Amino acid sequence: MIKVLVNGALGRMGRTVIAAVKADAELELVGAVDIFSGEVDGVKVETDLAAALEKFKPEVMVDFTRPDAVFSNVMLALSKKVSPVVGTTGLSEKNLAEIRAAAEENSTPAFVAPNFALGAVLMMLMAQKVAKYMPEVEIIELHHDKKLDAPSGTAELTAKMISEVRAAHKQGHPDEKERLAHVRGADYDGIRIHSVRLPGYVAHQEVIFGGLGQTLTIRHDSTGRDSFMPGVVLACKKVRALTGLTVGLDKILD
Ligand code: NAP
Repeated sequence: MIKVLVNGALGRMGRTVIAAVKADAELELVGAVDIFSGEVDGVKVETDLAAALEKFKPEVMVDFTRPDAVFSNVMLALSKKVSPVVGTTGLSEKNLAEIRAAAEENSTPAFVAPNFALGAVLMMLMAQKVAKYMPEVEIIELHHDKKLDAPSGTAELTAKMISEVRAAHKQGHPDEKERLAHVRGADYDGIRIHSVRLPGYVAHQEVIFGGLGQTLTIRHDSTGRDSFMPGVVLACKKVRALTGLTVGLDKILD
């Protein structure tokens, strides 16, 4: 049994993770932490992460908290030789470099996935493949209106993966002018990213490729938070066998 602590236990993702960990025969939920105390699924929620890591001695800490809290949570877990499995978005490249160094220094593997849904990972891999042949591309990501950060980690990672296989270039008309600020979206090496925030959505993304007389659209929809759970459970089981920092669910699928 792998001992797991869930941080962000009272959140939308945290509650779903607690149920998934409890339902898995190879995982044992040993503790739950959030900013406020409470109870989820019969489990007491503590408020002091450092004390909870000492008290429950988990092997893995799952983190679904907030973009402004995740980095310090991860560094704290690594300092106590607990492996972080991180779903919280908003970690910068600099943060990731520091996490990688801390993971190596503490001989404690860490895992970060901007998206734990298998379909979303396949969407990104397909997008990278298509971009070699159809390099004109824009990304539209659509999320619920409680999401704190934009663009989504998935949109940013998709753009990064596409950028690895095509030369950066400006898209659209060379003389185009925005008559409303930001109407053409964010610019990632020339790839435009558009973020939609509305009630009714969970997590969705379209990657639209344009070519002569044709378009190709790859779309993924997470219609419920349970879509992320097989990925989170798999990461909890595999993280201790990794080394340093691993980023992306695709790295542990095979
Ligand atoms: P949420 O409902 O706001 O849950 C976050 C929870 O963490 C809240 O209960 C929050 O408390 C708590 N929290 C905030 N700071 C904390 C800290 N320092 N220590 C412990 N707990 C803290 O958000 P969510 O929808 O579950 O999403 C959480 C994160 O996961 C977001 O960054 C989201 O983008 C990401 N996400 C990732 C994936 C993926 O596949 N990687 C999928 C879905 C969501 P308060 O409400 O009091 O602040």
